[in-house]
Amino acid sequence: MTVPLFDTKTPLEPLREAILERVAAAIDAGRFILGPEVAAFERELADYVGVGHAVGVGNGTDALSIAARALGIGPGDEVVVPSFTFYATAEAIAAIGATPVFCDIDPDTRNVTAETVAPALGPRTKAIVAVDLFGMPAEIPAIRDAFGLPVIEDAAQALGASLYGVKAGALGDIATFSFYPSKNLGGFGDGGAITTDDGELAERVRALRFHGSRDKQTFEYVGFNSRLDELQATILRVLLPHIDTWCDGRRAGVQAYIDAGLGEHLTLGATPEGATPAWHLYVATHAEADAKLAQLAAAGVQARGYYRLPLHRQPAMAPYLARSGRALELPVTDELARTNVALPISPVFTRAQADAVVAALASA
Ligand SMILES: *Cc1c(COP(=O)(O)O)cnc(C)c1O
Repeated sequence: MTVPLFDTKTPLEPLREAILERVAAAIDAGRFILGPEVAAFERELADYVGVGHAVGVGNGTDALSIAARALGIGPGDEVVVPSFTFYATAEAIAAIGATPVFCDIDPDTRNVTAETVAPALGPRTKAIVAVDLFGMPAEIPAIRDAFGLPVIEDAAQALGASLYGVKAGALGDIATFSFYPSKNLGGFGDGGAITTDDGELAERVRALRFHGSRDKQTFEYVGFNSRLDELQATILRVLLPHIDTWCDGRRAGVQAYIDAGLGEHLTLGATPEGATPAWHLYVATHAEADAKLAQLAAAGVQARGYYRLPLHRQPAMAPYLARSGRALELPVTDELARTNVALPISPVFTRAQADAVVAALASA
């Protein structure tokens, strides 16, 4: 049995007709930039996340740059970011002239914590980026309490997750989402959003995504041209009502792995009390990760090692390491980068697929 790493196609099939109808109507309406579909999606996303404001932007990377700029961050400022994450988390900070300073993560949740952030703080630290990695909500309230610094929640992988009933996207001072096709809520192209409960921040974000202008006449900031497309918003509005069902499917898939005995072959992460993960990816570890990946590939299972070269070892980040001048020992990051095995997971993942993955691991 071939088991794909993602299955973005099957969950969309029952929605195909509805999507085509709504896209046709949006084409007929002829408003392609910041029209009624974007406005309605922003309201629906804000309601789903449980915050006052959502603002659609071009992608999840721009969302991070715009969120940081809205917090007043710029050249000379430092922002603490994890090293074990997708490159965009740090790139978006560097792109606005600020310095990303890398920190380690907790080995069980793979997320930053108050303990791992502390050594990266300095007098120029203006904010902390906490990634809800692989869909596991980071323990952001504890980080906010510990340092009194604003937390930007990179929730690109976590729509549908929650921590003690508070949804990912509502945990930080401001949060960012990506609707890249393989994310938990994936559009048919690039897209992103920023969520916050702070009305002033939301207004700055709205101006920044439109060239730094509120009225298209006066330009207050050097901003961005980064808007969620009307057609993407039209599609995302059809998909959003299904996000909980899809996340339930992902959680059932992870339970199927556990029931199938995955823990006998790989080391599984931990879900802290109060956390409901959205499982964008299901990632286990093994000391011989690449050998396990080869074994899985031979059996038709599409597994993959993620972020094998963590961000503090990426060539483009070298000048930022030098600039921050902080000592950089990130042992948990280095270990996880070497040992992680991301396994297939999707909203329609089955017990039979879990059995096939476990059988492939057992066949050594
Ligand atoms: C996907 C992703 C991003 C970037 O999103 P894009 O829409 O591709 O720009 C940022 N951070 C994390 C953690 C991501 O997974």
